[in-house]
Amino acid sequence: MAWVYFGDRFVDEREALVPITTHALHYGTAVFEGIRSYGDGTDASIFRPLDHYERLLRNAAWLDMKTPWNAEMLTALTVEVLQRNGYVDDRYIRPLIYKTSTAIGAGLPAGDALAIVAVSMPRGDVVRPAATAGFSRWRRFPAAACPAGAKITGLYVNSSLAKADAAARGFAQAITLNTREDVAEGYGANLFIVRGGTVFTPPSDADILPGITRHTLLSYLGAQTDLDVREAPLSREAVAAADELFLCGTGMEIQPISHLEGAAIGDGTGEGPVVRRLAAWYRDAVTGRVDVPDNWLVGVRL
Ligand code: PMP
Repeated sequence: MAWVYFGDRFVDEREALVPITTHALHYGTAVFEGIRSYGDGTDASIFRPLDHYERLLRNAAWLDMKTPWNAEMLTALTVEVLQRNGYVDDRYIRPLIYKTSTAIGAGLPAGDALAIVAVSMPRGDVVRPAATAGFSRWRRFPAAACPAGAKITGLYVNSSLAKADAAARGFAQAITLNTREDVAEGYGANLFIVRGGTVFTPPSDADILPGITRHTLLSYLGAQTDLDVREAPLSREAVAAADELFLCGTGMEIQPISHLEGAAIGDGTGEGPVVRRLAAWYRDAVTGRVDVPDNWLVGVRL
């Protein structure tokens, strides 16, 4: 059995069930996170849980949720989920705060519950095999229609459609545009390109979810490399003409893209010097083998 945090206690995951009329199920009124822990079989550490939980609580405020927790309390509960299950391997942690009302009807009714589950998710290769990508025909929700940068479950229908659309066209990854027709991100990851030695990523007002991995890489690039880094709107053409193209996110880690809409990016291997360097540093950062800010790694001991 697996222990999960559900409601206000730890239960067997088979008991963590919700009624069919649960508001979040009908109206997408839940907020969530995706956090990774990396372990060697003896000890594990969770990467940037406080930043993930601060984002979760900010997003909960959009749905008028009453949240008695702070990021430290949620981190402590997450450590306990891993400890109770003896999880000192690589895990993906999914916290969810959802609207529990069972009354039919949209709105933001009172009643919010927390769940935290941890599933197995082994780390990928340091440099993952390159993937193909295509542009999604679905635009990102604009900020005028919703809190575009929030991890709210209802908004993920956009990611699901984009991923399915790309898959139907034979591409492993989807790249979304915003309604200004600028490139936004992946379906669950942020996007970077390298062009002529400069690293570019769309700015946070490009209707992206400004990811923690994106922030992690930007802070490394800015402080520890002499590469020029710019947050700037990117056209479809600029991305197609990149020397290197990669996606990044907590679950995906760093994913090089070798072909976009069937055309090679750079030399078509996906293995440019910048992505190789970033991927090597990122693996060391998440496993505590290089210096990172003190609160980025939270240890789990059994
Ligand atoms: N964009 C979207 C749409 C996502 O779902 C995610 C995953 N949370 C990301 C970007 C990357 O965010 P992070 O690096 O915080 O995982």
